[in-house]
Amino acid sequence: MAYDANNIFARMVRGEIPCIKVYEDADTLAFMDIMPQSEGHTLVIPKVAGETLFDTPPASMLAAMRTTQRVARAVQRAFEAPGIIITQFNGPVSGQTVFHMHFHIIPAYVAGTLRPHARERVDSATLEAQAVRIRAALLER
Ligand code: AMP
Repeated sequence: MAYDANNIFARMVRGEIPCIKVYEDADTLAFMDIMPQSEGHTLVIPKVAGETLFDTPPASMLAAMRTTQRVARAVQRAFEAPGIIITQFNGPVSGQTVFHMHFHIIPAYVAGTLRPHARERVDSATLEAQAVRIRAALLER
């Protein structure tokens, strides 16, 4: 499948559609997942085009992982999450629904209680309140 430059995450990178941003640098963007599997579920994307792990340049994967580590630490601190799950899907059969490479940062609070993947939408005010906590935790170091 060819990379679709109009996928929703590419449009966020270009500023064409809004997202609830928690972190941005020259190479990456991190924002709240609108159908979170738990409180604090955040996504990290490289800014360059790439559908999956396989067609994203290694330097961009590295930048995305660096941001994932940094934001995951802030998420853990903000929500006092006892566990953090990192996921990354490649291809529709794996569960990928947006075809721009991304890492999920999913706090785990109680084993076996995650909501289903990409299913239930949470309102923007609730997500913005969570983003405020993550942004504050990012400033703590
Ligand atoms: P995946 O299924 O791994 O491709 O993950 C895509 C994720 O993007 C899902 O968890 C969706 O809930 C999330 N998502 C879809 N649209 C948006 C959006 N506009 N803003 C934030 N997250 C989104």
